[in-house]
Amino acid sequence: MPEHERLEEVIDSVEQIAHKLGVSPDETEKLKRVAQIHPMRVSPYYLSLIDWADPDDPIRKMAVPSLKELNLDGFYDTSGEAENTKMPGLQHKYSETALILSTNRCATYCRYCFRKRLVGLPTKEIVKRFEDAADYIEEHEEINNVLVSGGDPLVLSNEVIKRFLEALTKIEHLSCIRFGSRTPVTLPSRFTDPELIALFKRYSQIDRRLYVVTQFNHPREITPQSVSAVSKLINAGVLLSNQTVLLKGVNDNSETLATLMNSLVSIGVTPYYFFQCRPVKRVKNHFQVPICEGVRIVEKAKAKCNGLSKRFKYIMSHKTGKIEILGIMKGKIYFKYHEAKNRKNLGVMFSHRVDEKAGWLDDFSTEL
Ligand code: SF4
Repeated sequence: MPEHERLEEVIDSVEQIAHKLGVSPDETEKLKRVAQIHPMRVSPYYLSLIDWADPDDPIRKMAVPSLKELNLDGFYDTSGEAENTKMPGLQHKYSETALILSTNRCATYCRYCFRKRLVGLPTKEIVKRFEDAADYIEEHEEINNVLVSGGDPLVLSNEVIKRFLEALTKIEHLSCIRFGSRTPVTLPSRFTDPELIALFKRYSQIDRRLYVVTQFNHPREITPQSVSAVSKLINAGVLLSNQTVLLKGVNDNSETLATLMNSLVSIGVTPYYFFQCRPVKRVKNHFQVPICEGVRIVEKAKAKCNGLSKRFKYIMSHKTGKIEILGIMKGKIYFKYHEAKNRKNLGVMFSHRVDEKAGWLDDFSTEL
């Protein structure tokens, strides 16, 4: 059976893990209500990584619903995705990059997901006719790369992935195609499918590589299975980079972060972005770490990293652009636009007075 069809075997109800949770029947009932709002889905493999004896286990925190999701602080579209949508499932925020939302499904639904508004839920935000999205990209020659995201595109069938690749590789002005996927981390057996690997091999050309941008958040996600998945992709000529999200109680200490980044380099995955957790409803209160604390974690972690493993940037994906969080000096925190919705802001630096509680740009009161 192809791996993407095995998705049906996932654990998708609180009842299935109630005996492992170690919480009262009353709390179990409340957790069921949380999962009714934002569905639960965990692959058996990812569930097997949880240490149930530890109520603060980081893998558990990322995959299992929590009562903290009842907190409604924040909002659902933190990066202005609606205003950058050109047609259902196609966003064009930065001139050079098109983003395609290919599906609302994933192998495991991460509780901190910034697209919580659509993951596992009925939505009109997913691409309807991929050919229309490809036509838009063809007509916009300023676009030189495409990120196929979701949800997780690699849970789609090989047939659908092939259609995407066929359409996108025909567009001459694209210099690379990226798949944003957490399947190497949450469903590494997907890459034991020789047909999928053959597809990657066929379409990753020496002068125009395919990229998989994956998301390892904790060193415990680096297992023989995920290392094998990464290795199969590398052998198929695919390049891998990693985006980690800074998550309270998961990777918010320098030791964990440095171990993660050093290990990623060891297995051939380039550390790329380290994202500030967005102020998403039902996520912010549960997972967001204040930015100033994030800066200190990053600096201490970098002191334990080598040149290759400290290549990541600490980034806030704000509605105005991707803003690099540079550091703190003499009571001020410094930022720089790495990508900007308004091109005039590209490369622009600015600072704010340090605010130890601020978790997002809009929380800082004074621009200096
Ligand atoms: S795999 Fe990605 S899109 Fe899916 S729930 Fe996790 S973070 Fe969100």
